[in-house]
Amino acid sequence: MSESSAGVVVVGAGLGAIRLAENLRTNGYVESITLIGAEAHPPYDRPPLSKSVLLGKDDRVDLKPGDFYGEHGIELRLGERVTAIAPDDKTVTIERPDDPAHSETLRYDTLVLATGLAPRAFPGADPDLAGVHLLRTYDDAVALRSEIDAAQTAVVIGAGFIGCEVAASLFTRGLSVSLVEPAQTPLAAALGTQIGALVARLHTDNGIDVHAGVGVSELIADAGKVRAVKLSDGTELAADIVVVGIGSTPVTDYLDGSGIALAAREDGGGIACDTTGHTSAADVFAIGDVANWLDDSGKPKRVEHWNHTVEQASIVAHQIVGGDAVTASVPYFWSDQFDLKIQVLGSPRADDDLHIASDDGKKFLAYYSRDGYLTAVIGAGKVGAVMKTRPKLQTRTPISEVI
Ligand SMILES: Cc1cc2nc3c(=O)[nH]c(=O)nc-3n(C[C@H](O)[C@H](O)[C@H](O)COP(=O)(O)OP(=O)(O)OC[C@H]3O[C@@H](n4cnc5c(N)ncnc54)[C@H](O)[C@@H]3O)c2cc1C
Repeated sequence: MSESSAGVVVVGAGLGAIRLAENLRTNGYVESITLIGAEAHPPYDRPPLSKSVLLGKDDRVDLKPGDFYGEHGIELRLGERVTAIAPDDKTVTIERPDDPAHSETLRYDTLVLATGLAPRAFPGADPDLAGVHLLRTYDDAVALRSEIDAAQTAVVIGAGFIGCEVAASLFTRGLSVSLVEPAQTPLAAALGTQIGALVARLHTDNGIDVHAGVGVSELIADAGKVRAVKLSDGTELAADIVVVGIGSTPVTDYLDGSGIALAAREDGGGIACDTTGHTSAADVFAIGDVANWLDDSGKPKRVEHWNHTVEQASIVAHQIVGGDAVTASVPYFWSDQFDLKIQVLGSPRADDDLHIASDDGKKFLAYYSRDGYLTAVIGAGKVGAVMKTRPKLQTRTPISEVI
């Protein structure tokens, strides 16, 4: 390690950060690597939070064993928050929420921004109202899980992926669950209403009370604790627990005044990057949920999925060690709801044409196309068929060759 080197500093110590650090060492990077994370926990995996952690089946979500960091010369600074960045000086300012007097400046050679998302609270709700939960962190999941045994009813507001998974997990834990979604179906914005209807069927058939096409007007409380949710059609749903899953916003507050460009809100927001993760500042990259990279067609695109983050971490690490930028492969994500694994390969859009290839009332397989060409495949309980489509998504394939 050279004495003058300040190495790689990563803001955020989540999935993107640890994968980046690991890739750097694998690719022969010998300078210092420092991960700065606002949470008290070492890097952990978020997908189990809405699934096995809530189900009480799993509590070990760490992405690496404790000795990994020392063995690989990766410094973890946990419970510390980056509050400012000065690209001209190549420094970050670090503060400790538990010690307000502490403020420190750290140099970097290369900076990677991997600060993820913050979940949106229900607009206008008292943030201290007991029984109301958001789900992004391990601590959020443990707080929600700790209330399940004493509860009988739950309302999940928002039927995106996390809302659908939480509804399934709470129902499996024995609660009577209502799932409320203002759009016409669950997952309509991501997957379109036809697939959304199949997902709604999955939940209804399993016993969830699905209210789609209706908003929430009010959280009703007694003595500082939620007791019901009032819908915009006047329906009142009993709720010992409310989980709010109405989306998240990229965490970029620490970039104020840095000059680092953000993407426009209508383009998905987050940190504006080129096709390989460079931000508008020299030697500063962004990866993961917070990063808005240009896609192959030059359009800004921000994605909130696990595989995407892992892939971006690898692409950026490769460049930091001096390799050529490699391009991304076919996008992939999954969601576990009840006993079904829903998998999506490719880039579906809600307004693509949809071709349902099979549907037995529970498991289904469908293809998306745009302008006559395959864009994505979705399967529920159809692992083999989904994965077999990968080569066809790697090239431009007419939909007529698939259906
Ligand atoms: C409940 C849940 C279930 C999910 N399930 C799936 C799934 O089934 N399939 C799938 O594909 N994806 C899933 N995801 C998405 C996946 O987990 C994310 O895509 C992934 O975690 C993104 O990694 P990241 O490194 O960008 O952000 P994160 O993992 O969120 O890490 C960011 C870290 O940065 C820290 N941070 C923020 N600001 C600062 C600051 N100023 N200073 C220091 N640290 C800071 C945060 O505290 C956080 O720990 C799920 C996510 C959640 C929350």
